[in-house]
Amino acid sequence: MNVLVINAGSSSLKYQLVNVETQQVLAKGICERVGSAEAFHKHGIDDNEVVIDAKMADHTDAMALVLESLTSGPTKAIDSLDEIDAVGHRIVQGGKYFDRSVLIDDDVIAKIDELAELAPLHNKAALMGINACLAELPGKPMVAVFDTSFFHTMPPKAYMYPLPYELYEKYGIRKYGAHGTSHRYIAERAAAFLDEPLADLKLITCHLGNGCSMSAIDHGVAVDTSMGLTPLDGLMMGTRCGAVDPAIVPFIMEHEGLTTQEVNDLMNKQSGLLGISGISNDLRSVRDASEAGNERAQLAYDMYSNSVKKYIGQYIAVMGGVDAIVLTAGVGENCEKMRRMIFAGLQPLGIVLDLEKNKARGFEREISADSSQVRIVVIPTNEELMIARDTFYIIQERQTAEAAGVDIHTEML
Ligand code: AMP
Repeated sequence: MNVLVINAGSSSLKYQLVNVETQQVLAKGICERVGSAEAFHKHGIDDNEVVIDAKMADHTDAMALVLESLTSGPTKAIDSLDEIDAVGHRIVQGGKYFDRSVLIDDDVIAKIDELAELAPLHNKAALMGINACLAELPGKPMVAVFDTSFFHTMPPKAYMYPLPYELYEKYGIRKYGAHGTSHRYIAERAAAFLDEPLADLKLITCHLGNGCSMSAIDHGVAVDTSMGLTPLDGLMMGTRCGAVDPAIVPFIMEHEGLTTQEVNDLMNKQSGLLGISGISNDLRSVRDASEAGNERAQLAYDMYSNSVKKYIGQYIAVMGGVDAIVLTAGVGENCEKMRRMIFAGLQPLGIVLDLEKNKARGFEREISADSSQVRIVVIPTNEELMIARDTFYIIQERQTAEAAGVDIHTEML
């Protein structure tokens, strides 16, 4: 089965065409700056990438270009749209409604829209992606895969905020988490790599990229995660501050004369590595500057690693131990120096990094020392494959149900 995976942002449309049985990526690309005069379309895999300047007034235009490049010209990957069996959409916020992936119908669309209040940019963008597919691929089955659903297993003591309870009842203010598809994927792959059933393991999963989040996964069940009502909470990130004293928000607003939108932008777009270093949100630039003696870059680097270290401690306490720590995303997969700093001094907790193994590059790998009681593994994330797989299983289930004469409609996986 070929699944077209769509990840729509407010001005971008990222896609991958995946053959689920072979796990092969048949094509991928991104339309960027959709709606602006500088819009462009990058299509291709690794060295075979082409960049096309193209007019895209909206996501539907972008989708039409994507489908054209999949089926014709030098970028052609399939003969016709009939070779796309289904579409899987990444949706950031599934709120209280979705504890797993679902087949998209009118009711699901209405709920994604309703939840946009909790993730305005993301859910509205996802709806643009869904509408573009409805226009360009009418009748094609579509599945919604939510970033939040993996965390539905968290107990109330983990997801509630100590605010007046009425705010939870009135607005649904609680922790929902994010990056769930990535955490679910790396937890499953780590268990397979370690050759242990996921249900027997206590894992701490760390998605460390420009966005950062960590999760405690106890015997296959997510029991806590660092992102909250929105992806702003938790760890220090590229441009997001993560958790700060909440009293800082009214303080800054008052003293800097900022509106709610401006303070929101300050915490989401001007903080984190960028805010502290004043150089970049990109860890490589911050690392280079710190090595050249820039003190603020060094501080940013130290704060980032310290933030991860503190969550490791928290989650060991939450689960009463840990069997393995799993790292992924741009920093987690690639930055030897950051990994060294994160694990420095954790020997008393039975966590020992092997400095030589830590230098190695490659696919899934273990980087803990033989003497380490806790295993440390690096697992490259693959959210698109996870979305394609969920889509595959749900479509298969629907076909089986239809064959048996059962109306499952939007029944879940
Ligand atoms: P992501 O959001 O997963 O794409 O990760 C982006 C982050 O990963 C950026 O801060 C990059 O600087 C960082 N990154 C990517 N490759 C490397 C590398 N080889 N060494 C250090 N950081 C890296």
